[in-house]
Amino acid sequence: MGMGSDMYRQQILDHYKNPRNYGEMEEATYSHAGENPMCGDEIRMDVKLDDDEETIEGVSFEGDGCAISQASASMLTEKLRGMAVDEMKALDRDDVIDMLGVEISPMRVKCAVLAEKVVQDGADIHEGEKQLDKTTTEDDDE
Ligand code: ZN
Repeated sequence: MGMGSDMYRQQILDHYKNPRNYGEMEEATYSHAGENPMCGDEIRMDVKLDDDEETIEGVSFEGDGCAISQASASMLTEKLRGMAVDEMKALDRDDVIDMLGVEISPMRVKCAVLAEKVVQDGADIHEGEKQLDKTTTEDDDE
């Protein structure tokens, strides 16, 4: 735990207090919500794809919960803009933890990955690959 880690902790607090791209996106291609019952985190992600649905044009979110879950969602909205949908779908837990830049205890990993799972499940549902009302981290063994 050196200076670098403090910097990342500040960044998480900043995203938590001043969430980026917060609010409902009216022209979203798809919207999906999820929850992490272990902590009480809730997040809805709105995603706008380009016309050929291969690239993410923009992402917004709304949510409620702990600093890790909300900061992760806020940081993801920035990370995902301009990303290929296939690349987004390939993101995993380690990518999210790298993005946050701090050590995440096993209990908090579900907080950290909630937004990623919501945005990925939303894409699968939009493409007809999955049927799901709401994403939950409850049964997640990762
Ligand atoms: Zn949480």
